Amino acid sequence: MSAILDGKALAQKLRQELKSEVDALIAKGCVPGLDVILVGDDPASEVYVRNKHLACEKVGIRSTVHKLPADTPQADLEALIQTLNSAPDVHGILLQLPLPLGLDADPALRMISPSKDVDGLHPDNLGLLMAGRPGLRPCTPLGCLALLDSIPFDLKGKHAVVLGRSILVGKPVALLLLERHATVTLCHSRTQDLPQIIHQADVLIAAVGKPHLVQSNWLKSGAIVLDVGTNRLEDGRLVGDVDFQSAQEIASYITPVPGGVGPMTITMLLFNTVQAAKTIFSLVAR
Ligand code: NAP
Repeated sequence: MSAILDGKALAQKLRQELKSEVDALIAKGCVPGLDVILVGDDPASEVYVRNKHLACEKVGIRSTVHKLPADTPQADLEALIQTLNSAPDVHGILLQLPLPLGLDADPALRMISPSKDVDGLHPDNLGLLMAGRPGLRPCTPLGCLALLDSIPFDLKGKHAVVLGRSILVGKPVALLLLERHATVTLCHSRTQDLPQIIHQADVLIAAVGKPHLVQSNWLKSGAIVLDVGTNRLEDGRLVGDVDFQSAQEIASYITPVPGGVGPMTITMLLFNTVQAAKTIFSLVAR
């Protein structure tokens, strides 16, 4: 029977630590600030943005939501990003995706100043990750690494298998694992004999978006399983990519869904905002 890797509890602990860091920054005259742009009225996006806003408030980060109508012209969206890029009290800029039809996310995301790119998805920051140089890292992959760091386990030389190669999760988490000297296998929809590859994994990170894709008999005994997948079933239940109940019997540690990787993603957004504030503030103070 495995131990539960409780992302909710870890997130709470890290947010308390972040609050102390924020208090120290405020005492020096820097109030970390995150500005979120929400275009249109997609209900799921509204919930995500509200959760981010509340999480910021709880640790003392100033947070402003810029709500724009769905028919906002691309030029107006980009003009707002430029304004936020040059605002000294703004340390993080987040463009909530997806954008309504008619707006192009790619040029807008590229316009965000890399030093304020708290989602870590600007090509400059992804390039720094690729080069193994410091920069803002994508939030969900950072959350996965923080979960691994919370248990007595050394990644060095271990075999980590990542399912999914998206720019949001799979690719960056593979690079972060590589940076920690794991031997990484990155799988995707054309990978052959997935069960056999997964059976060699000391660490499995599943980021596919297919409910219960990974069967427990595919797992190596004692594997550490991080389930990023978030899938809503027809009966309303939220489940991951791994069959949690049976996988619990085989894995040494496993994240639940919900309550595993999810709470860590927002925590890492707060972490990145504080990092960005520290960097920008130290440059201004020079
Ligand atoms: P995505 O962009 O749709 O990417 C899915 C990846 O899974 C693709 O690389 C795809 O391969 C691969 N894939 C599809 N079927 C597969 C199969 N049978 N075997 C192996 N790989 C397969 O999704 P994403 O944005 O990375 O998100 C993945 C999941 O994580 C979703 O459920 C999402 O909701 C969840 N998520 C959760 C959080 C969180 O905070 N908890 C954050 C982000 C995402 P190809 O490239 O070949 O198509």
